[in-house]
This record gives sequence, C-alpha cells and structure tokens, in this order.
Amino acid sequence: MPTIRQLPPSVINKIAAGEVIERPASVVKELLENSVDAGATRIDVTLLQGGLEMIRIADNGSGIEAEQLPLAVASHATSKIQSADDLFRVQTLGFRGEALASIGEISQLLIRSRTAESQGGAELAVKGGTITPPAPCGCPIGTILEVRNLFFNTPVRRKFMRSAQTELGHSTESFTRMALAYPAIHFTLRHNERVVYDLLPTGNWRERITACFGQEIGNELIWVESEEAVAALRGFVANPSQSRANNRLQYLFLNGRFIRDRSLQHALGEAYRGLLLTGRFPIAFLRLELRPDAVDVNVHPTKLEVRFEDAGQIYSQLLATLRTKFLSTDLTAKVTHPSSIPASPQQTDQGFDREAADRHRDEVTSWARGETHQRSAEFELRAQASQPMQGKFEFQPQPAWHPLPDFQPFPQPHTSEVAAGAANQNRVEPQVPSRSEIAETNPSPVDQDLERPLPVSSPPRGMQVQNRYIVTETEEGMLVIDQHALHERVLYEQIRERVLGGKMETQRLLVPEPVSLTPAEAATALEAQQTLSQLGIEIEPFGGDTVLISAYPAMLANLSPNEVLRNVIDLLLAGGKKPERRDILDELLHMISCKAAIKAGDRLSLDEIHVLLQQRHLFQDTHHCPHGRPTSLIFTREELDRRFKRT
Ligand code: ADP
Ligand code: MG
Repeated sequence: MPTIRQLPPSVINKIAAGEVIERPASVVKELLENSVDAGATRIDVTLLQGGLEMIRIADNGSGIEAEQLPLAVASHATSKIQSADDLFRVQTLGFRGEALASIGEISQLLIRSRTAESQGGAELAVKGGTITPPAPCGCPIGTILEVRNLFFNTPVRRKFMRSAQTELGHSTESFTRMALAYPAIHFTLRHNERVVYDLLPTGNWRERITACFGQEIGNELIWVESEEAVAALRGFVANPSQSRANNRLQYLFLNGRFIRDRSLQHALGEAYRGLLLTGRFPIAFLRLELRPDAVDVNVHPTKLEVRFEDAGQIYSQLLATLRTKFLSTDLTAKVTHPSSIPASPQQTDQGFDREAADRHRDEVTSWARGETHQRSAEFELRAQASQPMQGKFEFQPQPAWHPLPDFQPFPQPHTSEVAAGAANQNRVEPQVPSRSEIAETNPSPVDQDLERPLPVSSPPRGMQVQNRYIVTETEEGMLVIDQHALHERVLYEQIRERVLGGKMETQRLLVPEPVSLTPAEAATALEAQQTLSQLGIEIEPFGGDTVLISAYPAMLANLSPNEVLRNVIDLLLAGGKKPERRDILDELLHMISCKAAIKAGDRLSLDEIHVLLQQRHLFQDTHHCPHGRPTSLIFTREELDRRFKRT
C-alpha cells in the first residue's frame, strides 16, 4: 500500500518555484512587481551574466519592517490580500505571496530593507530555503533584493538555461514590460556594469515608448481611445508603415499588468486587415482599464493570461476603436527617408499569371464598372459631361501618352483652382463642397483636416511614369501611385461590395465539372462549401474524393473552374490553421482583383489615369492594396524642399 505523506515546506516551495520561476527573467518580473506594489518612484535593476550570476533590484518604496522580513520570504505570506473575496478586487500586481519564498528556495537571496519610520535597516539571507535571522544593517529607505546563483540547487533547471545573452534578452523584456506599464517611475537597467536603459520618469507615454523602442516607432504612433461601460481603452498603435514579423511588439496592459491575450491579438490583426502584408504584425501599445471584478487574474501562475467576464465585448471594442480611427486617419505612406521606401516594384507582379490576367481583365472590369457608377452618381455625371473622359475604363492597347493642351502636371495651387474652375464650367458640380467653399463657411484655421485632400472637386491630374506609376499633386505635395496596387484595391472593394450584397452572378455549368482531389483536399473544399457558394462557386460531393463544380461566377467565365477551385483549396490548406470564412472570402477577392487589375507595365491613357485617380476617393483604405502594400507614397513639399536643400 502506498503511504500518503504531507510534503515538507521546502518541497512545496520547490514545486511552486518551478511554476513561477522559469528563468532569471521571471525573477526580474516578480521583484519589479514587488517594487511597484511598494510604491517606488525609482527602481534600479542590475544583472550579471544575463541574471544567471546575479540579479539585484533596488527600490525607494515603502520598505519592510525588520520583524516582518521572515514573513516576506515565507510561502503564502502576503501583505496584499486577506480574504478570498479580496481576490476579486486585487489592485496590486502581486497577491499570491509565493514569489520571495520560491526564489529563496532555489537561490541565494539577500534582502536589505528599511522603512521611513525605522532608524536603520535590516537584512535577511536565505540560501536554498534556509533562513538566517534578520540582522541590522545600514541602507537607504526602500528595499534591495539580491538573487545570486539561481537554480544552484536544482541542476536540471539550471541545465535549461541558455547563454547569458539570451537570458539577458528575456530579462530585458520583463524590464521593458514594467517600464512601459509605469512611465511615471524612473527605471534603470545595468548589465555587467554597462547601463542599458536609464528611463527618466515621464507623464507622456509616447516618450517612454520612444525611449524603449526608438524614434522610428515613436514617430509613427497613432493615439486611440474609447470608453465603454465595461472597459476603457487607451494607447497607441503604429502606422502600418511600421510592422514586425512577429507579434512581440504588441504590448497590452490590463489594469497596469502586462498580459497576452490571443483573442485581443486577433482583434488587432483584424483591425489591420488589408493594411499590412501577409506575415507582418501590427505594433501596438494599449492600456485596458477594467473594473477589477470584470476580470479574473488568478488563472495563470505568472498572471500572464487573464479571463475576461465578457471577452467578446472587449474584442469588439478594440476592433471598432482602431477601425474608426483608421478611417479618419490619412495612412498614405510618407516619404521621409530613403530607407523607408518600400519594397521594389517588381514585387507587384509576383505570383500573377500575366497572360491569364490580360485575357480576363476586360470582363471583370466592365462587370465591376457598373458598381462604380452606382456608388458615385456624381462621378458618373461628371465623367459623361467631360468630353475627353469616356466614363469607362477601357483596357485596349492605348496610343502613346500625350498631354492635353491644358495639361499641367504640377500646377501652382492657385492657378490650378482657377483652371479647374474654368474646365468645370459645363459639368454637373459634385455635392462635395470645394476647398475654398469650406474655407469660406468655416474660416477656422485650426482644423488641420482641411489641409488634407478632399474628394476632388476637379478631375485630378496625373501623368504616368515608366508605365507603372502615376504622379499627381495633392495639397501636401506630390503623390506617386502604384497603378496596379491602386487599381487592385479599387476592384477589390467593388467586388467585395457585390459579394457582401449577395449580388454575385452565378452561371450554372451545362456540364458540371468534376475535380479529383486528395481526401484532405476534398474534405477541405466541402467544408468551405457555403463560403464558396457565396462567391458563386457551387460544389457538391461526387463520390470518392471527387468534387463536382455545378455553378460558377459569371465574371470568371474564362478562368478554368478546376484551376480556381484548386487555387482556393491550396489557399485553405496553406496556413495549416483553419481559416475563417472571412479569410477565405478575402483571399478569393484578392485573387480575383489581382488578376483583373491593370498591371505594372500597362500604358494608360489620360482618361484612364483620371478615372483611376477619381476612384481613389470612392473607397476607404485605398492607400494600401489588398495585400497591404502601399498604393501610394506622398512626397510632402517640406520633404522636397529639404532634399533640394531649400531649407
Ligand atoms: P506577493 O507580492 O504576492 O505579496 P511576494 O512573495 O512577492 O508576494 O512578497 C511577499 C511580501 O513581501 C509582499 O506582500 C510585501 O509585503 C513584501 N515585499 C516584497 N518585496 C517588497 C519590496 N520591494 N518592498 C516592500 N515590500 C516588499
Ligand atoms: Mg510579489
């Protein structure tokens, strides 16, 4: 018969330590939390060998009374909660009373502390769980905690430690998280006597973020905020010009505590959908304030994950806040530095079947054209009235580019108003007031938004460069547009509206087309049956691993149904994870708009340029193509002045 025994406290503590203290970075985190909880305004962190040899954290917080020191290192001893009810109104970072006990169990720990009331300090040492009683010592008000030889008595754990450099990386991350959460605290980090960070206290969060991550990110932060019944959200997200290959630059703080939350990370990704390239992740620094009882922080030993009472609500709030902000923000990429010019234009063509695209472009665009005009009666009227403009996007080979007699690629702001006014005489005026009209009725110079290009009141003028870019003037300066990327975005939006409005025309195939697949492919296709039918592709099982395509979108008539279905399946299988319905729709829309859009290298007539420039204003988000590449770059006048050494 096995005997049941109560484990001795040292074993219990070692087990607890295993959960809480994974590496030096965990010690840094726990000790920093204690210092913050103690009300410190300055915290100095010193590491030797990434923290493997020594971690010292000194604060100017409340300090600990000499007689309380043994309790501080006892397990389940805390000054932060008293009853189970307190668990649901925790305002401090710590409350488990486990950290110091755990650390003392697996290292050599030295605490020196002094409160404001006591004359001198006291020190207490713990080695592998054995406590040396407190003794008086001299020290400033506050607490100094020193942890040496972490895991010296747990060789297995010690073996898992990486190089000092790697451990330093993890420890720095713990440090940064805390420094970001508490910008009003002065934090320093030293490694092997070198100062890594000296973060002066600040009331300005952007300043702290910049101090941690540099000017490049600091300059591109967009403030977002929203307040709802359950949660208040405040912080910064980066302009899509800044992104990362992983989600590590997504800092989310819940009531002052750094957390990781997959659902909120997903919401963030959704908010940037179409603004970032595939595989790129947004950068964000967000603070979420919730009533303490609307969240359970006691679900994870290191409290990295939490459980929200109403996770769906917070998801929607985050998504809506960002989306709303983006809609009112000009995200056109600004050229400020040679290195910020994005990837080479050849990429625009990558992965596209040029010939097939040419064949099918006409059908798709003429199909989508109706939608454009429906959206913008104003545009259509103007297009019809304007002599040289056909109001059509005709993609027949065009004669060589030739400027109209009154064509001025870069008119002066004033003369352009006059010229545009004259040219517009016979045209139906759009509903959108011109800039000068707005300026008359609203003379306030404060409204910066007036400086942004409005939906145009005169046909935007532009010229094509190298058969792939369109150059035009805006209020701010010079805009260079990638013709393929912009047209792709416009088509994407047009087709998407059609699909979402349930207006996809489907053609029944006279002879249904069988497609033989692998078992996994067939299962995947059938799982996506509904989504596919939304796009006008009807499929049904046909015995074995064969799938029958019975109906197909009219607009794709010239693309082989077989090929399109295979493309879709590849796409579904590619990610590994199961894509959501929305992802599938999105990818299909990408594929279709990509194939249909004008290409880099296509010569455009002036009319086509005009139409494309007009369409730019019909949709939101046309500053990025559906893959997240920028469609246009703006060279501001200031930037041009700077480069021509005028300033
Ligand atoms: P917890 O933080 O969950 O309470 P810890 O083991 O981390 O548990 O700390 C135990 C107690 O020691 C804390 O409740 C606090 O009273 C005290 N303490 C720890 N670090 C400090 C510090 N830097 N300054 C003041 N008191 C501290
Ligand atoms: Mg603690």
